[in-house]
Amino acid sequence: MWMNSMKTPKSFIFRVLPVLNSKISLNFLIKLTNQKIIFPFYHAISDEDIIHIKHLYKVRTTAQFINDLDLLLKYYHPVNHEDLLNSIKQNKPLQGKCFLLSFDDGLREFHDIIAPVLIRKGIPAICFLNTAFIDNKALFYRYKASILIEEFERGNCSSAILNTIQQWFLNNRLSRGFDKNLLRVSYSQQGLLDKLAAIMGYDFPGYLKVNQPYLTSSQIEKLISQGFAFGAHSIDHPEYRFISEDEQIIQTRESIKDVCGKFGLSYRLFSFPFTDSGVKRIFFQKMFDPEQPVADITFGGAGLKKDFMTSHLQRIPFEGTPLSAEQILASEYVYYLLKAFAGRNRIKR
Ligand SMILES: [Zn+2]
Repeated sequence: MWMNSMKTPKSFIFRVLPVLNSKISLNFLIKLTNQKIIFPFYHAISDEDIIHIKHLYKVRTTAQFINDLDLLLKYYHPVNHEDLLNSIKQNKPLQGKCFLLSFDDGLREFHDIIAPVLIRKGIPAICFLNTAFIDNKALFYRYKASILIEEFERGNCSSAILNTIQQWFLNNRLSRGFDKNLLRVSYSQQGLLDKLAAIMGYDFPGYLKVNQPYLTSSQIEKLISQGFAFGAHSIDHPEYRFISEDEQIIQTRESIKDVCGKFGLSYRLFSFPFTDSGVKRIFFQKMFDPEQPVADITFGGAGLKKDFMTSHLQRIPFEGTPLSAEQILASEYVYYLLKAFAGRNRIKR
């Protein structure tokens, strides 16, 4: 998953929430909605700017992350992927109020920063990997955009290069500012970012080598031995609604097969890159075909919502906002209630 900007009516709730928050307790909202299991998710946690993410969304600091965890532990108890798998298999709801954490994109920070905190607090988690990026073999195209924007903003381009870029934007019908042009480049157009990097004399393989943004296979093996679960997040992070149904199946099946085969996993977990919005019912029917299932559980990131299959679960983004975990959750519950009144808290496919 990658952050969707908050253009939904939820943004309104976020704005009015300081008022709501003082009056409505989280326990009351949990009781009212009867939504006792939640799936918060992040990408990275860092106290420093991460260049490849800096121009995409704001990550939480270690202190903010610890506050989030303390809040979660105050209201819910942590469960792991096995608890969830058993509950779905046996069609038995988990006891009490619980949360399962996950982290998308298989970033190095999961090993360096996140895992040590989670181990200290006894909290399990799932980390989702893009199989093309493990061991820093390649770079997500949105990260390339963020890196080039940073290069541009640091003034690392001569006026001759700037003129060439200007001309190149015109030739490619990119008519906005530098950052807006780059952030609009889609998965199918990602070659443009490599061409622009060549014009700017920028070296992505060099960035991968020096910065090591992704987890390595040996780090993943160590994390598995420490009890963390891993799943797939597609091969190279396309936005599913813009690729064919065949391509959706290939990206999902191959990445799950790779992660499970390479790391000897007996469970098959998958989280959607970007969003599962626009992904049709037939896709999920193929994923969970009783004769030949591709996945055991899949995850979206649409917030507190029900989906049409019990094996496809929606997670709550816990980053890209200055709000506290309590405010994020309260607003999700309030939004859930509002949608429930309109009969719209279940995703239709
Ligand atoms: Zn992602």
